Amino acid sequence: MPRQMTCPSCGEAENLEGRRGDAGIVVTCESCHAQWPRDIPYTCATCGGGDIHTRPRALTQYSRGTQLSIVGLHWVPLCAVCDADMLARANQQKPVPGQYEPAAVRERRGDDGDDATNTLILPR
Ligand SMILES: [Zn+2]
Ligand SMILES: [Zn+2]
Repeated sequence: MPRQMTCPSCGEAENLEGRRGDAGIVVTCESCHAQWPRDIPYTCATCGGGDIHTRPRALTQYSRGTQLSIVGLHWVPLCAVCDADMLARANQQKPVPGQYEPAAVRERRGDDGDDATNTLILPR
C-alpha cells in the first residue's frame, strides 16, 4: 500500500513538492511552506519503538543559499521515549533547536545519563 504523505503542519496532501538536498529529499508544502524530510522514520533509530512524533524545528542551520525569504517551518521526527524531554518541550510550542539530533533519526549511545532507558530496551 503506497504511503499517504500529508503536511505535518496543515494536513495538505496534494500540493507537496520534493527537492533533493544535502540530507536527502526534503518535501515542501506549497500551502504553508512547511518543510520536512521525506524519509521520516517509522521506527526510532535508537530504541526501535514506533511512537514517532513530528515537531517543528527552529531554522538555525538551514538558512544557507538563496531561499531565505520563503522558508517555513522545518519538521523533525522525535521518539516519544528517547526524545521525551525534547518532545515535552516541543509540546509547549517551543521549536526544536537546530542543533538537536533526534534519537529517532540517529542512534544515540547511552553516554549522557540515559543508560537506564537504553538498558531496558536493548535486546540481549
Ligand atoms: Zn502545509
Ligand atoms: Zn526511541
